[in-house]
Amino acid sequence: MNNFTYQKVSNPNDALNKISKNNAANFIAGGTNLIDLWKYNLAHPKTLVDINGLNDYKIIKEDEHGGLFLGALATNSDTAYHKLVEERYPLLSKAILAGASAQIRNSASNGGNLLQRTRCYYFYDASSPCNKRNPGSGCPAKNGLNRIHAILGTSEDCIAVFPSDMCIALAALEAVVHVKSPDGEREIEFSNFHRLPGDTPELDNNLKVNELITGISLPSEGFAENYSYLKLRDRNSYAFALVSVATGMVLENNKITKIRIALGGIAHKPWRVVAAEEFLVDKSPTEENFASAANMILKGAKGFGKNDFKIELSKRAIVRNCIMALHPESQRPGAQPSL
Ligand code: SF4
Repeated sequence: MNNFTYQKVSNPNDALNKISKNNAANFIAGGTNLIDLWKYNLAHPKTLVDINGLNDYKIIKEDEHGGLFLGALATNSDTAYHKLVEERYPLLSKAILAGASAQIRNSASNGGNLLQRTRCYYFYDASSPCNKRNPGSGCPAKNGLNRIHAILGTSEDCIAVFPSDMCIALAALEAVVHVKSPDGEREIEFSNFHRLPGDTPELDNNLKVNELITGISLPSEGFAENYSYLKLRDRNSYAFALVSVATGMVLENNKITKIRIALGGIAHKPWRVVAAEEFLVDKSPTEENFASAANMILKGAKGFGKNDFKIELSKRAIVRNCIMALHPESQRPGAQPSL
């Protein structure tokens, strides 16, 4: 029996006070990952601080910079189906709807999506060693079952991947994460929010103790004309990505003026290579150019046996997804890509 106390809060300072005075306290919003972790005996909160009463953080609204602010407590479903997200950031809608199930998306919050933990089999098996769960105990995935594991940004200590779909689109959109703590507020660029494992794989991100995610800002450029999200997985529903790609681009006179390519399922954080995006600027959107960029993005990739296939799969997924971004009608429900 794991006894715990449950407290509801209705203002952020109250929420932060309750957490900062109690090391064994957790915020809970949708709870879709925390309850899993708890059931698997991987999380042991003594106090749950329910933040669902912080109504200001449920809002989705245009901001003063021409972008969009997504409240941290807006659900994934409310975000994906919000009129402004569908119209201005369809890449984000598409990525969110590729994740989990309708029931989970109806409960999961935007802030929680950023904080979900890896689905490494060994991490979820409390009887297994795992450096992420129990630092210094080892990483059985390196020589074990690693079909779903990382090929880029790995370390001696951990080869886990970050499982989100939503965050891959947020990386391509260059979102900014807003956080609040008893010391004040700060903003974190999306590329700096999640971490590579290094020798501290127990840390998934750069959020500090006592910080609360309040929202996510999207810049004005939403790539609404040319975008695509491609998710490759073992079954076509309710499965995590083996490889996913989010592409947004801006074209002028059949030349690329701006492009963002982010990959999921292959690293401990959403993966972008800025040099590959810069390489494509002022170039024609051809298969050959996308293939050159894909080679740049996968430079240094390394498999661990059962996931070697991800290197070639990622390259092909990048090329395919960039071509699909030229045909955004391929992203509509039921549409067949006209490639
Ligand atoms: Fe643990 Fe990371 Fe190794 Fe998985 S890959 S067993 S999460 S240390």
